[in-house]
Amino acid sequence: MKNFEKAIREWTRLLTKRRVIVDTTTLKAESTATFKTLQKIHAILRPVSSKEVSAIVKIARKCSIPVYPVSGGKNWGLGSRVPQKDGVLIDLSLMKKITAFNETMGYVTVEPGVTFGAVVQYLERKKSMLMLDTIGSTPDASIIGNTAERGHGMALYADRFNFVCGMEVVLPNGEIIETGFENIEDSKLGPLAKWGLGPYVDGLFTQSNLGVITKLTLWLRSKPMFFQSFIFHVNNESNLAKVIEQWRQMGLDGFNSSLRVFNDIRMIAFGERFPENETIPLRSSTRSALRSKLKIGKWIGLGGLYAASPQHALADKAFILTRIGSLVDDIVFYDQATVDEQYDQGDDATRNQLDFMFNKSLLRGNTSKTGVNMVYWRKPNALEVKDIHEDGCGVMWYCPAVPFTGKDTRIAIKICERICKKYDFELNIGFLFISQRALDITGAICYDRNIKGQDKKAMDCHHELMGAMTMEGYSPYRLGIQSMKLMKLKKPSSAKFLKLLKTTLDPKDILAPGHYIP
Ligand SMILES: Cc1cc2nc3c(=O)[nH]c(=O)nc-3n(C[C@H](O)[C@H](O)[C@H](O)COP(=O)(O)OP(=O)(O)OC[C@H]3O[C@@H](n4cnc5c(N)ncnc54)[C@H](O)[C@@H]3O)c2cc1C
Repeated sequence: MKNFEKAIREWTRLLTKRRVIVDTTTLKAESTATFKTLQKIHAILRPVSSKEVSAIVKIARKCSIPVYPVSGGKNWGLGSRVPQKDGVLIDLSLMKKITAFNETMGYVTVEPGVTFGAVVQYLERKKSMLMLDTIGSTPDASIIGNTAERGHGMALYADRFNFVCGMEVVLPNGEIIETGFENIEDSKLGPLAKWGLGPYVDGLFTQSNLGVITKLTLWLRSKPMFFQSFIFHVNNESNLAKVIEQWRQMGLDGFNSSLRVFNDIRMIAFGERFPENETIPLRSSTRSALRSKLKIGKWIGLGGLYAASPQHALADKAFILTRIGSLVDDIVFYDQATVDEQYDQGDDATRNQLDFMFNKSLLRGNTSKTGVNMVYWRKPNALEVKDIHEDGCGVMWYCPAVPFTGKDTRIAIKICERICKKYDFELNIGFLFISQRALDITGAICYDRNIKGQDKKAMDCHHELMGAMTMEGYSPYRLGIQSMKLMKLKKPSSAKFLKLLKTTLDPKDILAPGHYIP
């Protein structure tokens, strides 16, 4: 890279040597994702303030060096910290301040290095009655990184980007701007209202390369007065389709709940490894034995109910039973009283189940590391969960959305099942019910990177699968560095508009080149 040495000298003057990382061992480790990548990270810069971010970007622009922001750097299955093209990382994880918190109005304002785990601990310390909508990934993932990609939570504020406002953003020319009501002097509405005055621009800084978000406000919900979780099992796919039809209508009728539906493999992989001495792919007899062991169906629905009183809670439960009770093979509800009773009398396995389903449930604002087990699915049984990159865990997400209908869900399952089978991977799929008209799919191709040929096989599987899904009209809602080419799906007029924005704001294409906007 031309001018690289000059840029490094200027960045070092700004940040000191300690916060400009150029040692090759670190850079090599940071350039590793959960699938094969060729891009190189040439240096890592670690600012502690938005002013430093602004200065970093100005130097990058002057020297024409591509820079790529990461907040927590836990974009696992979508590229981890690896940029779309070779460049320098701006690692924002030292910007760890929670700059505002308001119990009455229900919000927290955070810098990029603030993780889900940190906010959960902060709320505990404050003995807050508010709840963070957390994440299925590691507690070390960041709120801003997750929002920047329009990621998903677990409860009623799961559509993360819906519940943020008032961003501070460093533009590719180094200027710092604020959005929403934060850009009106003395406005009392900055952390309270989303749209501001005039054109709404926050969306431009998500799934894009038009700015570095250095602060935002995230809204928090009250902890439910009466929380219930539930789990249901469905073995028959035509019944699953009927449940989906019912759930859409329930939502349109005004019923509020959180729900995600997984297939058996997703659930099995949370706690088990691919059995040793088993042929690849898993035989259906072994799969069925694992289902029996864990007492799960072929499809599992996992959800939360957030009632304002015990009376509302009873009504919610009755409503679900009326609408889907006859379509599911089994359904169990958990509330504090029933859980306490079973906990006292239960063995370790029962207690673990009650913790997972209720006491420590992610559906009520807890974080957990157990979801990460899933990416060790094809790894040897003896390998302890440590570092998914060092351990050679292969995982690649595919993220198409489908219309919220039983018919589309079945078509999508068929496509994904057929293609995963062709490449000898088990279908590992979940449907997220975070809006009322579309379902977001989270599909994971899990494999062992240490087995020769698997990286290529997984990538081929991913590409064929997304090709087939988009042909069917099931467009991606989020991309990783493995799938960024799918931005080509956009109509030319829209692509041209985005390009115009990019070239106007970033004529030298220095900010995260190739990240969403080519
Ligand atoms: C088992 C497992 C479970 C998962 N569960 C979930 C889940 O429930 N929900 C979910 O959404 N994801 C999930 N993920 C995917 C991923 O781990 C999360 O999305 C995670 O939040 C991303 O990491 P991060 O927050 O540290 O973001 P980062 O890695 O820091 O950033 C993600 C991307 O956002 C952009 N970005 C980051 N910071 C900024 C910034 N300040 N300004 C502009 N752009 C920026 C960058 O392009 C970066 O590549 C899961 C992954 C695994 C393996």
